[in-house]
Amino acid sequence: AKILWNNEIINEEEVKIGYEDRGYQFGDGIYEVIKIYNSNVFTAEEHIDRLYASADKIQLVIPYTKDVMHKMIHDLIETNEVENGQIYLQVTRGTSPRQHNFPTPEVESVLTAYTKETSRPLTQLENGVKACFVEDIRWLRCDIKSLNLLGNVLAKQEAISKDCYEAIQHRGEIITEGSSSNVYGIKDGVLYTHPVNNLILNGITRKVILDCCAEVGLEVVEEAFTKEQALAMDEMIMSSTSTEVMPIISIDGQHIGNGKRGEWTVKLQQAFEQKIPSSIGL
Ligand code: PMP
Repeated sequence: AKILWNNEIINEEEVKIGYEDRGYQFGDGIYEVIKIYNSNVFTAEEHIDRLYASADKIQLVIPYTKDVMHKMIHDLIETNEVENGQIYLQVTRGTSPRQHNFPTPEVESVLTAYTKETSRPLTQLENGVKACFVEDIRWLRCDIKSLNLLGNVLAKQEAISKDCYEAIQHRGEIITEGSSSNVYGIKDGVLYTHPVNNLILNGITRKVILDCCAEVGLEVVEEAFTKEQALAMDEMIMSSTSTEVMPIISIDGQHIGNGKRGEWTVKLQQAFEQKIPSSIGL
């Protein structure tokens, strides 16, 4: 498969990344993961908008217009003939002799993007997954989709080591989000989720799910809830671009509801599926 490197679509062997790339040395960059369904780029507009918003927040200049970015992504998917899968795209602040402050003189940012065939996690979507609580030790700008993912990496690893699929992070008693997902609880016909602020990533799937809530008649309250409240929810869900509307059936070994995928969750999954582009888009 070909790689998008800056504005060229080339063979993998031709990609050259400097050992002093600031993404490599400092995690100084931003990224997106975008899903491809039946050769359609799902919620492309939202992902590219968020990429440029993340860039702005760290004063990183992407030297392409959004329209050019959309075109380059589309060309890469077409070249690689991706039907169902995802695109990973990152932009770093570029390569220059190591110093913490921004490069002087300025250098161009470095873009890399590649595609991967993946399939939907159908078994987990039906059976649900196990989660565990992990203290949220990340910085205070989790709204930026930054390459600095060490806190998320450690949280996910802790979950995996406990035979769980996801870590539900909390600051003190308050649940923020998963290590690579947003988290929701449903109780008595109301869906609760952490408000969009600096403590969570404003998930694109989160936005789609809130639209689905309106469609299925599930009330939404964007308010944080505690670990204790989480354990008492009728249903719990996590969401991300790759995991969609994923039921959480236990936390730290304690069942949520009856320990099976809940009824509201099924309704949200059905509403979500309706939004998946079915026709070949190319
Ligand atoms: N929060 C974090 C920390 C994430 O890494 C992700 C996945 N990128 C999400 C939430 C979900 O975001 P999205 O629905 O846009 O994939």
